Amino acid sequence: MAALWSSVASPARPTVKKESLPALIMESIVLFGPPGAGKGTQAQRIMESTGLPQVSTGDMLRAAVAAGTPTGIEAKKYMDAGQLVPDEVIIDLIKDRIQEDDASNGVMFDGFPRTIPQAEALSTITAVSHVVAIEVPDERIVERICGRYTCADCSAVFHDTFNPTTKEGVCDSCGSSNFKRRADDNADTVMSRLNAYHEQTSPLAAWYDSKGIFFRIDGDRDIDSITQDILTTLE
Ligand SMILES: [Zn+2]
Repeated sequence: MAALWSSVASPARPTVKKESLPALIMESIVLFGPPGAGKGTQAQRIMESTGLPQVSTGDMLRAAVAAGTPTGIEAKKYMDAGQLVPDEVIIDLIKDRIQEDDASNGVMFDGFPRTIPQAEALSTITAVSHVVAIEVPDERIVERICGRYTCADCSAVFHDTFNPTTKEGVCDSCGSSNFKRRADDNADTVMSRLNAYHEQTSPLAAWYDSKGIFFRIDGDRDIDSITQDILTTLE
């Protein structure tokens, strides 16, 4: 990805007219990771280091609906009916997004694609150079998520094992002794979310792997090591 790094620093890139923008002009990356793997933190860091904007289809959908764009209006019909927004609509959204100025060197997809048909559709509008999977053993994710609790008064986040309050039962930030735990942060719920994730993404991981662009990163380490590994993979 050397070309990408140097072109980020070069402001003299010729302006391409949007209508004539050829498909596959840039190379994008896709970030994979189960809930609780620290994907959000890493996405933020990759964005800062590479200059690739993070593209979350969920955020884009909400923004398009709020802005009332043609695609947003189309998407809203499905959302109002409680239906999944079809892949074609999401692809249209992405098509619009990657023609914005900040995307001329590619983007970082987060949470998309999730299926092989989505990945095939994506490949028709942008080249994907790297698919990076942050991998954390399921039992570690259960441990991370299930021990979480927050202060009911100031929302400070703590963890039974990794980040307990200094004084038991007293919030470090505000001194409150009111804490809450999310009902869906229990082991059974987390395990079923993880199973669904694996079931959905395994075929897609194999598909990208067969193209030689799938990279696994050990996510069960400190945040800096993980970032470093991801950046080395992208170089
Ligand atoms: Zn507090």
